[in-house]
Amino acid sequence: MSIMFGKARTCNIVPEHEPAECNIVVLGAMGSGKSALTVKFLTKRFISEYDPNLEDTYSSEEMVDQQPVLVKVMDTADQDGPMNCERYLAWASAFLIVYSIDNRLSFEVCQQYVEAVTLYTKGLHPEAPIILVGNKVDMERYRQVNKTDGATLAARFGCLFFEVSACLDFVSVQNVFYEAVREVRRE
Ligand code: GDP
Ligand code: MG
Repeated sequence: MSIMFGKARTCNIVPEHEPAECNIVVLGAMGSGKSALTVKFLTKRFISEYDPNLEDTYSSEEMVDQQPVLVKVMDTADQDGPMNCERYLAWASAFLIVYSIDNRLSFEVCQQYVEAVTLYTKGLHPEAPIILVGNKVDMERYRQVNKTDGATLAARFGCLFFEVSACLDFVSVQNVFYEAVREVRRE
């Protein structure tokens, strides 16, 4: 039996919390569409020419499953695969690792990222989730990476996997970022 004293009830007042934050790092080979996906998520628009060397972090207040969250997206611009990862590893709550389905090399680079990030996150509690993203599905005619290759890599590392296009529908792109938030909440 629990005894409730009148005063204890004041503890039930819910304090006003800042919305939770979710820091998403977008990684992948140059040209895979990291900036295009980031800009699409933030503005609903496809920007075809984006400075390939520009690395920046953006914030957006989002409602994911009726709960507010401040999503911060770091759109990275590495020149040659996973190097100098310190700047984002500790900051990240989740990783989107992007390749382009019409470019086999971008898939190889993406594997290097998955391996490098996994090596780091394995020891973490909570473990920052990785989401594998095959971009440019509108380029189906020029596909060099089978969907099963992506799915196999994702399964091997226990990641979620999506194929999308930064120049097709907004909701599919938004969903990838929202799934990252959901994965972080599940941790
Ligand atoms: P990043 O280096 O990974 O940031 O790649 P960008 O976002 O700058 O995109 C590289 C090139 O691919 C640009 O010419 C984009 O217009 C193009 N691109 C990006 N996403 C898509 C996509 O989903 N479909 C197509 N067809 N082109 C894309
Ligand atoms: Mg870019």
